[in-house]
Amino acid sequence: MSQLPGTYGTVEEQGVGAPAVLIDRYNRAITDLRVSITDRCNYRCVYCRTGNEGAQYSELPMADYLRMVRIFVEMGIEKVRLTGGEPLLRKGLVELVRELAKLRTVRTGEPLDLALTTNGHLLENLAAPLKEAGLTRITVSMDAVDPGTFARITRVPGSFERVAAGIRAAQRAGLNPVKVNCVLLRGFNDDQIVAFAKFARDEGVVVRFIEFMPLEEERLWTPESVIPIREVVAKLESYRPVVRLSPNSASETAVRYTFDDGLGEIGIIAPVSQAFCGQCSRIRLTSDGKIRTCLFSQSDHDLHGVMKRGGSDADVAEYIERTVALKEARHHIGEPDFLKPSRTMVHIGG
Ligand code: SAM
Repeated sequence: MSQLPGTYGTVEEQGVGAPAVLIDRYNRAITDLRVSITDRCNYRCVYCRTGNEGAQYSELPMADYLRMVRIFVEMGIEKVRLTGGEPLLRKGLVELVRELAKLRTVRTGEPLDLALTTNGHLLENLAAPLKEAGLTRITVSMDAVDPGTFARITRVPGSFERVAAGIRAAQRAGLNPVKVNCVLLRGFNDDQIVAFAKFARDEGVVVRFIEFMPLEEERLWTPESVIPIREVVAKLESYRPVVRLSPNSASETAVRYTFDDGLGEIGIIAPVSQAFCGQCSRIRLTSDGKIRTCLFSQSDHDLHGVMKRGGSDADVAEYIERTVALKEARHHIGEPDFLKPSRTMVHIGG
């Protein structure tokens, strides 16, 4: 493989004999791959989708995702997160996880950190098979703990009960700690913050609040719709004193808190008010096999096209190298020159 500036760096930079790691031109190591395996979703969350449009992009045979991920892993990817659309809708998911669990990282020879993001609606019956197949971590998206509010957000009656059952099944299966992600929007679900804190403590899950980003199908986002981190902390403090926890790793995106009695963990992910682009280690693959170098990219890079044209593994790797070199320095949310990305969250894979 060629040594392109800004991707693998030089041998001197990486250390003689060190396994190759993808490094972009801003010297960020790219170790984290998110793969959308379907563009379909069984929820129509009001802040994410219009409710009228379904899938817009195709999905690939599982074998094609597996091949692309294998090549990425040979290039230094260590964390793989399956997402969508809704990944639990995809037949063959458990078998894909089983195959991905056989891959080993080039740096340590250890299995991948293999995670899944889901809305949890179909999780009750799938949690145990996924764990058995080798899934290491799960994140369940849940934007309210009040069942009525949750059903209004998802536009699916009974959704809260289904997701809660999914979370408990994941815990029983040993996918602990289950992370529960909540996207906060002003005047919409910010009244749920304290209830989520109680939920984290009662259910033994890690709740993470995420700032709303301009990635929706409709144009709802305004700077005022974002609940900044300090406001979330103030609401938590109104319930109980909070204590800051140290980060789990240098690239961790969540600022972590617990309460004065050590019970319950809350993370706050603030891509808008405290952007972490400088530490970004991510790259994304869409359901139709396109690489996205940033959530806010203006275009995709057709990796699957290289495979369709009969490209070898070396050709695929070369394309990945060239694409990583194009990774953006940062997003421009809230700035006058901000342009909406060419795809919305559900069609990228969150
Ligand atoms: N269906 C799966 C799920 O619900 O987790 C995976 C795909 S979903 C698009 C991934 C995550 O993106 C969800 O947690 C969702 O809440 C989040 N999300 C969607 N639109 C967002 C936005 N505009 N800003 C921040 N997060 C968003």
